[in-house]
Amino acid sequence: MSGRPHDRRLLLGPGPSNVHPRVLRAMAQPLYGHLDPAFLTILDEVQSGLRELFGSVNPLTLPLSATGSAGMEACLCNLLEPGDEIVVGVAGVFGARMSEVAERIGARVTRVESEPGTILSEDEMIDAIRRVRPRAVAFVHAETSTGVCQPVPNLAHAAHEVGALVVLDCVTSLAGLPLELDRWGIDAAYSGTQKCLSCPPGLSPVSFSERAVERAASRKAKVQSWYLDINLLAGYFGGERVYHHTAPISAIFGLAEGLRIVAEEGMQDRTQRHFAAAAALVEGLREFGMEPLVAPEHRLPMLTAVRLPKMLRGAEEAKLRHRLLDHWGIEVGAGLGTLAGEIWRIGLMGENARLTNVESLLCALRRELG
Ligand SMILES: *Cc1c(COP(=O)(O)O)cnc(C)c1O
Repeated sequence: MSGRPHDRRLLLGPGPSNVHPRVLRAMAQPLYGHLDPAFLTILDEVQSGLRELFGSVNPLTLPLSATGSAGMEACLCNLLEPGDEIVVGVAGVFGARMSEVAERIGARVTRVESEPGTILSEDEMIDAIRRVRPRAVAFVHAETSTGVCQPVPNLAHAAHEVGALVVLDCVTSLAGLPLELDRWGIDAAYSGTQKCLSCPPGLSPVSFSERAVERAASRKAKVQSWYLDINLLAGYFGGERVYHHTAPISAIFGLAEGLRIVAEEGMQDRTQRHFAAAAALVEGLREFGMEPLVAPEHRLPMLTAVRLPKMLRGAEEAKLRHRLLDHWGIEVGAGLGTLAGEIWRIGLMGENARLTNVESLLCALRRELG
């Protein structure tokens, strides 16, 4: 590697976020075999740590060997068969991705959309759920493309009233906000390791309720994906521990350490830390005419979307982002879709949710814009 000053990055985009040094060290330890009892003890620890963070006792809670999008595919492809109805809440790019995945499975998709930067309308979602009476209802808890936090309980309740299964995207919320899958009544949830868990990308924590497991077992047709079929994954990640695919040992060492770090801090303090850092960021960005996109009550603490002032819109924002990266080693996220060139998305995820990082960004902006 060259000795350039900014080989080290401060990753304040929508993910990945910086990895805790303890996680990096854990990943460097010598391998165990994937059926070695010493490794299985660590896997047990990871699965119980994930249950804790998901707020669930679901036995089938596991780190899927792939990124968050594969977790999305796994949840949808196990629960849906061609021709099944699904209602998908689309409040941004990741809701739209869920709808695309469901379509490819051959499901009949009813999309309920919100204006960019706003939550899904509960009335519209509930109307659609009651009208369609779908097999499943899917939406995103923490929509990373806009910085919106979707309230979960009422939507999950409406889905249960018509017997639908509920799929929740928790990629950005896990380990940053308290989750309560069991209390909310979520049947399938997925996340990723590179956001608030401060691990590298590559694993997707997922959790399936008993109803979801029953649904996957009683399908007419086999799950189209062999790799993501939870009937098969349960062989290794359930009690039997029989070979399905080779677990990514080093990544799981890293996740185990990441989960220990979260447990040492405690979710209450960790959530507080995220809110405090986000509040300081929002306050500090006002100096540059950057105003939050999302109403205060629906703002995510780990991802802040800000509208850029006129003089920074379009080509100017890209120039400034590149200067932040080249001269200061700080990465921030661009807007996606219709918000491209209009907003920035600034992540303060996991380890990165600290006032010193907020100050580093504000200081760099002051030098660039002052
Ligand atoms: C990052 C993200 C994903 C996709 O995860 P990958 O690890 O990039 O595949 C899905 N949903 C949300 C809300 C995300 O933020």
